[in-house]
Amino acid sequence: MANQYKKTTNLPKTEFPMRASLAQNEPKRLAAWEDAGVYELMLKKNEGHEKFVLHDGPPYANGPIHLGHAQNKISKDIINRYWAMQGYQTPYVPGWDCHGQPIEHKVEEMLGTEKFNQLPTEKVRELCRKMAVEQVDTQRQGFRRLGVLAEWDNPYLTYVNDYDATDIEIFKAIFDSGAIYRGRKPVHWCSHCHTALAEAEIEYGDEVSPAIFVRFEMTTVPAGLEAWKDSLWVDIWTTTPWTLPADDAVILHPEAEYVAVLVDGRAEIMAEALVERCCAKFGYESYELATGADGSTWHMNGVELCHNKYLQPIFGDQGVEGEFIYADYVTLDDGTGVVHTAPGHGVDDYNAGMRFGIPVVMPVDDDGRFYKGEGLGTGGPWSGMEVNEANPKIIEWLRERGTLILHEDITHSYPHCWRCKQPVIFRATSQWFVSMDKTGLRKKALEELSKVAFYPSHAIKRIGSMVEGRPDWCISRQRNWGVPIPAFTCQDCGETVMNDATLDKVITLFREKGSDAWFTDDPASYLGDACTCPACGSHDLKANPDILDVWWDSGVSHTAVCRHRGYLKFPADMYLEGSDQHRGWFMSSLMTSVGAYGVAPYKSVVSQGFTLDGQGRKMSKSLGNVIDPNGECDTRGADVLRLWVASVDTSTDVPCDSTILDHVGEAYRKIRNTFRFLLGEIEGQFDPATDAVATADLLPYDRLVLAHLCEVHDQASEAYRGYRFNVVFRLLYDYVTELSNGYLNATKDRVYCDGATSFERRSALTTWTQILSMLVHDFQPILVYTTDEVMQYLPASMRDGQDYAALLDWYQAPMTADEYRALLPAYEALVEARAAFTKAYEDAQASGTVTEKTSQAARAELTVPEDAYALLAGDGACDLAEPFVCSEVCVERGEDYACTVLPARGEKCPRCWNWRELGEDGLCARCHDVIENIGE
Ligand SMILES: [Zn+2]
Ligand SMILES: [Zn+2]
Ligand SMILES: [Zn+2]
Repeated sequence: MANQYKKTTNLPKTEFPMRASLAQNEPKRLAAWEDAGVYELMLKKNEGHEKFVLHDGPPYANGPIHLGHAQNKISKDIINRYWAMQGYQTPYVPGWDCHGQPIEHKVEEMLGTEKFNQLPTEKVRELCRKMAVEQVDTQRQGFRRLGVLAEWDNPYLTYVNDYDATDIEIFKAIFDSGAIYRGRKPVHWCSHCHTALAEAEIEYGDEVSPAIFVRFEMTTVPAGLEAWKDSLWVDIWTTTPWTLPADDAVILHPEAEYVAVLVDGRAEIMAEALVERCCAKFGYESYELATGADGSTWHMNGVELCHNKYLQPIFGDQGVEGEFIYADYVTLDDGTGVVHTAPGHGVDDYNAGMRFGIPVVMPVDDDGRFYKGEGLGTGGPWSGMEVNEANPKIIEWLRERGTLILHEDITHSYPHCWRCKQPVIFRATSQWFVSMDKTGLRKKALEELSKVAFYPSHAIKRIGSMVEGRPDWCISRQRNWGVPIPAFTCQDCGETVMNDATLDKVITLFREKGSDAWFTDDPASYLGDACTCPACGSHDLKANPDILDVWWDSGVSHTAVCRHRGYLKFPADMYLEGSDQHRGWFMSSLMTSVGAYGVAPYKSVVSQGFTLDGQGRKMSKSLGNVIDPNGECDTRGADVLRLWVASVDTSTDVPCDSTILDHVGEAYRKIRNTFRFLLGEIEGQFDPATDAVATADLLPYDRLVLAHLCEVHDQASEAYRGYRFNVVFRLLYDYVTELSNGYLNATKDRVYCDGATSFERRSALTTWTQILSMLVHDFQPILVYTTDEVMQYLPASMRDGQDYAALLDWYQAPMTADEYRALLPAYEALVEARAAFTKAYEDAQASGTVTEKTSQAARAELTVPEDAYALLAGDGACDLAEPFVCSEVCVERGEDYACTVLPARGEKCPRCWNWRELGEDGLCARCHDVIENIGE
């Protein structure tokens, strides 16, 4: 039966569509924003205000954007929009890391290695630049589509002239401080890529290596063993047989005790603690320990054994000797307690060797092959051979000589090159370094970190321990596509030339012509008077071909971007990146900034986890579990993707797959429907500017709900301030769910059926507009397209005088914290009473006490505790029949919350379907009055 009174009710009417069609509509809205210059308008709105500068970490310009990129840029956009709404000016300059190996590698693949190697450096660099520009364009399109507001037309790119010049400016500042030095030092070396690698460019993976025990023949006799007339040896253990040609020391633990095992006419020195294990392993069935002059077991500690000598395991025949030294890092967990040492092939070995003046022997070339020759410093019997190829041959050689004790294969974690995935080696080369300790850089960096706010707060421990433990920073690379290390070599005397005069000339050159000029121009043409060797006075200088570590490039963005663009700030307010950047960009930015200026480049650091699939696996093409962010924009829409970013706890690794996005899509629809429901009674029907009821005059139920709204908004604001978007999402989403089952459902009757301009309806709609306004504002940083769409349907008085949601100010709650907190106990008592009613109503339905299918046909007898009674009954209290959506509620004092549900008195009003005593016209009193008023 059609309701004949329908046309007398205030039916919802809004043009806001139920179906979002985000995939079709978002691109149109985006185009409109770009036409109108919404990003610029956002800056203009807050002109002259305090700034909040989130400095963008440059993604590497390679390939289309992936989900991790999307999460990163969306998170930044949420933060910028939040602070812009708070009245801060938020200039946001996106950037790209354009130099470096991946692009160079791509160019090499494109050309083929042979052709690539034949091209002059400047030609390779031209191709690399072209590739970078294309990649930047692809990624920029992808980021824009996500709804991210930024200075997209003027991003920062690490290959432009000013950026090149800045690299050298910072270099000069740190060089002048005395922290930059050139040294021969073992570095991770990829012989496939021909370059030194930084720790951040290393990936660890399992590798099978040969582990061998070898005996070295001694040439000195430790005190107390003079009586022993046969051969004397020291036993060592190594997993890198190919480092034996570079051996020139063995390291013992200073305090460990060593003994000599007598077996088959040999005396072999090893750690006392490992004798039993080693002899069992070596198959030494009957052995004795050597005794000293007094007849007791001979033993000596590492310090006492120091400076003894042995024959070098490969070149011993030529009289080459190695030396006993000691270091704390030797353990007694494995091996023999004696470590073979090649200072050119390991950092620990290098450091230990330095303390005892052990020379760095380096027989391995750039290709990972042994130098040809016969003596120490060459590969000897394995001349020209690649080191891994030499491994089995060296083992065989030792076996033939009778010095190999045991060979077994072990699987252990081994460093690999991040680019080519090949195992890397440690190799001493001439490189440029930033010293961590010479000028106190490490100490100062740690001091500066303590002043930075970290989100999550425990992240400071991670970067802090990295700073504490990191070795000197090797900043040189042997590649083409990057900014040169500004060093020259004197062609007459070989001196390395670098000083303030040459550095200033290089800075000027790069600013005018870019760093390409380094590879094409004659140094004399730009150095002028500075083109002089300070050692021999020669004017014939040659530019050094090494380039700077690409982390240096991105690291100096604090200056190239934040300082050089006057409208930004240094230090920046915030850096936000994935947690892998603790040793990447967060680190190189910190080191270059502290090195040049003595301060950290950021006031706060937000670190985020990685995006994984629904089962916690890495996304990969081979697993078929890749979520393509732009693909999702073209189907579900960017706002759904943004809502996903807001829904996950980004402080840890986050899962994503299509099932998860389906759930987010459902949440999106629920939020959208709430917007639509509210607009249905507000658009064209109610303008808070003229129709609102003063907060103090609101009906009690409306006022209590408004108090709760203020509470939710305060909690959401706090979560935004702490960058905990998942908390924002949870609060707002739960609130929306609660509204549709609770307050909005309960007040529908008053809004639909009361007189259009009645006080009761206006009181409800005053709260409805506050709810709508709060949701539009609080969701704006996240649902950028949808809130902007809602804006079109809002009364002018609800738009803060703006046309675009991005330009809204932060929601102004209608009650102060004191005001709303005073009302929360009553609100909470109401919620509890309603829960008691709901349960009782369900019971009454089950037992058949009530038969009608709607709660409107029921009444309640409610008992509440004394303190709640004071809040829920009496003058000025809320009529509970409305929140309960029943015909009447009688409230009594009692011990606890309890409720009895009975059939309503009266009959169903045909207009409003409430159960009331009906009048002569068959309507309830309220409906009677409304109809009569319409008639007039
Ligand atoms: Zn490599
Ligand atoms: Zn010279
Ligand atoms: Zn009625």
